[in-house]
Amino acid sequence: MTTTVQTKTYLNYINGEWIASASNEVDKSINPANSQEIVGYVQKSTEDDLNRAVNAAKQAKENWRKLSGAARGEYLYKAAAILEKRIDEIAECATREMGKTFAETKGETARGIAILKYYAGEGMRKVGDVIPSTDSSALMFTTRVPLGVVGVITPWNFPIAIPIWKMAPALVYGNTIVVKPATETAVTLAKIIECFEEAGFPAGVVNMVTGPGSVIGQGIADHEDINGITFTGSNGVGKRIGQAALKRGAKYQLEMGGKNPVIVAADADLDLAVEAVIAGAFRSTGQKCTATSRVIVEQGIYEEFKEKLVQKTQEITIGNGLDSTVWMGPSASESQLNTVLSYIEKGLEEGAELLTGGKRVVEGELANGFYVEPTIFDHCTEDMAIVQEEIFGPVIALLKAESVEDALKIANNVQYGLSASIFTTNIQHLLSFVNDMEAGLIRVNAESAGVELQAPFGGMKNSSSHSREQGEAAKEFFTSIKTVFVK
Ligand code: NAP
Ligand code: MG
Repeated sequence: MTTTVQTKTYLNYINGEWIASASNEVDKSINPANSQEIVGYVQKSTEDDLNRAVNAAKQAKENWRKLSGAARGEYLYKAAAILEKRIDEIAECATREMGKTFAETKGETARGIAILKYYAGEGMRKVGDVIPSTDSSALMFTTRVPLGVVGVITPWNFPIAIPIWKMAPALVYGNTIVVKPATETAVTLAKIIECFEEAGFPAGVVNMVTGPGSVIGQGIADHEDINGITFTGSNGVGKRIGQAALKRGAKYQLEMGGKNPVIVAADADLDLAVEAVIAGAFRSTGQKCTATSRVIVEQGIYEEFKEKLVQKTQEITIGNGLDSTVWMGPSASESQLNTVLSYIEKGLEEGAELLTGGKRVVEGELANGFYVEPTIFDHCTEDMAIVQEEIFGPVIALLKAESVEDALKIANNVQYGLSASIFTTNIQHLLSFVNDMEAGLIRVNAESAGVELQAPFGGMKNSSSHSREQGEAAKEFFTSIKTVFVK
């Protein structure tokens, strides 16, 4: 007997209820490993839906703010426990929605659980300092207050961890939220919101509205009743959000693209470097904001490094991320695949030489998905588009440097500054890299991708609005300081 599972339609979550959009329209969420599979339908919401959600968040904010931090933290502990029970199901959903392997989405869900627990504990940590007043009979101190209603806009590449690392601190510091996920991965977020619902947050504290970025995302940026906006995504969209927020005086935080370099010095452990470059460049199909996309190698070891890198790259297994023997899944969407392929074409036009990869994968069942080969370009120059622009796919541009000093110059010659790493055993090289590399995340003898939830995360230059997320740094964005003088 065959059973047909009906594709589920997910609703908006507003004021503690799941409700359909006034538009009566839905968007499809497609599996990039097999574009015939629809993972779910999500609401194609309108401005009216957003207004209802913002209004609910506004109504809820007074009572939520007045709870103790510890009481707010309890809700996060509950959400963590519920997410833990659903880890396999939610990780599988994320793999179906955006393609990265189940091992990666499971790791990401585990990260989400850890973030919830970290910020649950944060509800009991200090929110201010005592500052000696010049008046010896007075008490002066700082405390922190929430912003009010926070709008959360998230991308599809980390559909679990990024929403949680924004929602958890926003909530524990006393804000209410309206979250708009990337349409590509809205089903995964709906499941996370189900966990929040089951944790029993009061109505209106957590709201989710799905729909087009140009309507719901822009609507959040423009909404007079949204006091803070936290965004992760592309530069173009981020800048528009920043401008809209600035215009009406809302606080904002933007985490955007990267063009992350790895420098391999002549004194490096080459096998370690090769392994880290492969993981940094090709895990998640190159779709991490901290992914390695430029590899700058000192001339003496260039040929040897290149040979080892190409050989290891050709061993990568490509396929459906739910198959445990597969190392790399598809690009997350057809448009992402097309972007990657067009950059590969541009690289060839500009005179770079293809060492391996470069094509869409169309063998057998893979033809139904958005697969692209892991790709390495040689003979790249600093002015090429593949060296300057974020591709967000499994593509490495190899560059040759005369020295580590020269490599650092090349590494800094981009508009981005998110993460960067160096492989070296020389303390002088290590120190000049730490001092002179323009990036928010500096890694030594480790891959460029890799973030710990208890440490600040964010970029320099065009990678960020210069704010930081995660760890204690989240407190800076999600609260305002009040200075109190008591006599
Ligand atoms: P994106 O196109 O900028 O989308 C991000 C979010 O913004 C989505 O929810 C999107 O909604 C929404 N949006 C689209 N147009 C909008 C508008 N006009 N106003 C307001 N919101 C709008 O980015 P993406 O393709 O999802 O994600 C990839 C990018 O994210 C890459 O550039 C990557 O580097 C960056 N990223 C950065 C970090 C970091 O921490 N620095 C981390 C991960 C990813 P729709 O889905 O409905 O279009
Ligand atoms: Mg999808």
